[in-house]
Amino acid sequence: MSQQLPDSVPPDLFAARADAIASAARELALAGWTPATSSNFSMRIDDGHAAITISGRDKGRLTRDDIMLVDMQGRAVGTDARPSAETALHTQVYRHWPEAQAVLHTHSRTQSVASRLYANAGVVHLQGWELQKAITGHTTHESVLEIPVFPNIQHMPELVARVDAWLSAGKPLAAYLIDGHGIYTWGRDMAEARRHLEALEFLLGCELDLRRLNA
Ligand SMILES: [Zn+2]
Repeated sequence: MSQQLPDSVPPDLFAARADAIASAARELALAGWTPATSSNFSMRIDDGHAAITISGRDKGRLTRDDIMLVDMQGRAVGTDARPSAETALHTQVYRHWPEAQAVLHTHSRTQSVASRLYANAGVVHLQGWELQKAITGHTTHESVLEIPVFPNIQHMPELVARVDAWLSAGKPLAAYLIDGHGIYTWGRDMAEARRHLEALEFLLGCELDLRRLNA
């Protein structure tokens, strides 16, 4: 590995996180949610660092060597590799939620279509679905789960500011869509982040089916 680790980062910890990211990425790629090298995945290492996928790699073939270290401003640490262009959205989650340990971003067909369909409304309201309970903090299907849809702004600081504005308004946030692009969600460990991602993929798919049926 060309990744040099700072003294404060135990090599075993980085390797374990890198393996967990690579294995999750391969599985999500198999589901068809990461077309054409898109999508990116990360895990927290400590308060100052995260491990994240290197830009442009085929997510179906990821190994430990495709994962790099960044600081919480999204800058590469101990490597010449280039982190994903969207690294700032990952580090924003780690800065905002100290308990967040994993961030997943995918580009499935369902997520992409839903993001276009709800872009004008700026939000998807999910209500009445049993699987809403898969999202931590949602204990009943009767509550409303709001998934905002942000514009696909290529200038990352502006997109980060949009997410911050939602949070500053005091609204809960478990995930968000980006118009014509994909979804971001996270969790207190990789398993929780995976559960959130799978639940949201399912729920968005159900909403699209209802629209197709004009229900
Ligand atoms: Zn993306």
